[in-house]
Amino acid sequence: MSVRCEYRAYRAAFRQPLITAHGAWAEREGVLLRLHDDDGRSALGEIAPLPAWGSETLAAALAFCASLPPSIDESFLQTIPAGLPCCRFAFETAWDALHRPASPLPVRQIPLAALLPAGPTAVAALDRAVARGHTTMKWKVGVGDDAAERALLAELLDRLPSGSRLRVDANGAWDLATARLWLEACEGRAVEYIEQPFPVGHEEPILQLDNEFSTRLALDESVSHPDDLRRWLDFGWGGIYVVKPALAGSPRRLLRLFESYEAEAVFSSAFETAIGAKAALTVAARAEPSGRAVGFGTIGCFADERLNLPDPGPTLSTKWLARLASGPLWELSSPVPRAA
Ligand SMILES: [Mg+2]
Repeated sequence: MSVRCEYRAYRAAFRQPLITAHGAWAEREGVLLRLHDDDGRSALGEIAPLPAWGSETLAAALAFCASLPPSIDESFLQTIPAGLPCCRFAFETAWDALHRPASPLPVRQIPLAALLPAGPTAVAALDRAVARGHTTMKWKVGVGDDAAERALLAELLDRLPSGSRLRVDANGAWDLATARLWLEACEGRAVEYIEQPFPVGHEEPILQLDNEFSTRLALDESVSHPDDLRRWLDFGWGGIYVVKPALAGSPRRLLRLFESYEAEAVFSSAFETAIGAKAALTVAARAEPSGRAVGFGTIGCFADERLNLPDPGPTLSTKWLARLASGPLWELSSPVPRAA
């Protein structure tokens, strides 16, 4: 069956700028898709690029949307270029939402990690997250003075209740000497893993560090693009793969990939609006359960509440996820796409 397709651009400010080793980020831009069939049904998809994580740019996504034929069928999904993984994700998830709306999710509860800001405000944020019932916290580092951040690490770990765990995300900011200092500080402590210690293209020391220290290591930026993910899986790296479904191309292919390799995925947000976040969480819900929290502490990140998913609390029920409506996102986005 063929469907008609429309698209709109959006720009949305965060409640607070996100500070990471990549810099400060104050607003997200993306594209919403709407597919319509002849029976009057429609479904939305979201293109949420993060070029710093290896995805296409917003301009490339808009140029692709501007070249769309008047109507598409399912075979169109296979023709979306590999260099446009966010477009592929958006079209495939919108297609499935339109054609398989009743496809049931496995019924289960998925814990959510709370996102702690970089710097000393992480301490109060940790206390709030613990009070809300989160047991996994993720902290952004590689932003300020390294020794001061490691002093904060000790403070955060001392405050962490028994049974809770901290993820440390360096966003590629470290060199080997710095990574060693952190791994020494984390040894024997409740650190679930250290994420992306080195920049993309300079990951090789993780192979050595994996053998030297007991704290697990994870890759995020290095495996964001589907081709890079495949390369690390083929290589057989035994660490944790942080997967942002919104950047990872076809969700069907992604799920098949993790089924066929014995690799551990932690699903994570790319700061999508409610449309993309629901679609990305649906991918996580369909994956083999790992028992680890998903990295969707970004829910509620937009200043305009209408763009956010409702707050699921520290644990997300897949039944709750399946029931979520898409809200007024389409109406809030711009009918005139920005020039590409
Ligand atoms: Mg990360």
